[in-house]
Amino acid sequence: MPPATHDELTPATRAVALGRPGRDPGAAVVEPVTFTSTYLAGGPVNYARVGNPTWTALEEVIGGLEGGEALVFASGLAAIDAVVTLVPPGGRIVVPGHAYNGTTGLLRGYAAEGRLEVRTVDISDPPAVLAALEGLEPGQDLLYIESPTNPMMEVADIPTLVRHARERGVLTAVDNTFATPLLQTPLADGADVVVHSATKYLSGHSDVLLGAVVTAATARGRALRERMLTRRSLHGAIPGPMEAWIVLRGIRTLAVRLERASANAVELAARLDDHPAVTRVRYPGLGAMIAIEVRGGAAAADRVCEQVRLWTHSTSLGGVESQLERRRAQPLEVETVPESLIRLSVGIEDLEDLWRDLARALGAT
Ligand SMILES: *Cc1c(COP(=O)(O)O)cnc(C)c1O
Repeated sequence: MPPATHDELTPATRAVALGRPGRDPGAAVVEPVTFTSTYLAGGPVNYARVGNPTWTALEEVIGGLEGGEALVFASGLAAIDAVVTLVPPGGRIVVPGHAYNGTTGLLRGYAAEGRLEVRTVDISDPPAVLAALEGLEPGQDLLYIESPTNPMMEVADIPTLVRHARERGVLTAVDNTFATPLLQTPLADGADVVVHSATKYLSGHSDVLLGAVVTAATARGRALRERMLTRRSLHGAIPGPMEAWIVLRGIRTLAVRLERASANAVELAARLDDHPAVTRVRYPGLGAMIAIEVRGGAAAADRVCEQVRLWTHSTSLGGVESQLERRRAQPLEVETVPESLIRLSVGIEDLEDLWRDLARALGAT
């Protein structure tokens, strides 16, 4: 029997089934880690800065989940840099005011050097985004979407924004780290590029950094992919084969982890809404990320983060363990993020254990 074709598999199954060695009798069931710096001459790849079989297996899974073709990078930011540098010098990029702070920091640096013009917008306000697209150069300028945004949890109307950008010939990229391809697939909405910090949900165990870009399997998508492949090969922001293997192993359980974490998050968001110490809950109703604001400003929020015993007080997100942090404690975070905002990355622990710990910490403010 030939293996099932990808098209007939649901995303949860693709996460498990893709990126496997061929089904020859006696073959390994799991893709091995290939540690080599070079290859015998005459094959398709001659050097390991250009390609590695363990990356290829992971790219098959991530690409299969997003409905496109993936390239893996050393980190999410390395992948984002490959997307941003698709815009030629002097070009313009429209970006959410509350994008991931590493993304805004990277763009601020390029803007300060005069390399790019950066226009920040409220990505949840379509008329504001459309106004910012005015005057953009077809075929070179970029609308960069992140949804939900990190950490403000603003949600973009991706199909509408992408349609308007495409009508103007403007490239579109979507950071899909928070939602994951199980909750939204921007390429299906016409986006040109999807970018991931696989450090978060795709790997899911807070033990590795890795990034990915995914482009559509069309002539337009392949041309973009080729440019980002060249960038990866020549700038060298490549993942180690062991890191790729760790993500490949983690992604197998993406669907069950996300299902459990999301169910926990739905219930925690409802309980937090009723908690007297919490003044605002930002939760889009899906996924496992929540942002709350607490009474008493930065000092009270810091106390919550210091009081938890089960939740881990750490930056980053998307792991099996629940994590929290006050975002403005990060030096790069933008000033329009409230001082008392705590970002919660809900994990897969027992709900009641999570609630007891969090409620006790909130009660101590
Ligand atoms: C963490 C994160 C990034 C950066 O990824 P790294 O793997 O840490 O480089 C980019 N976008 C979002 C939304 C993130 O949360």
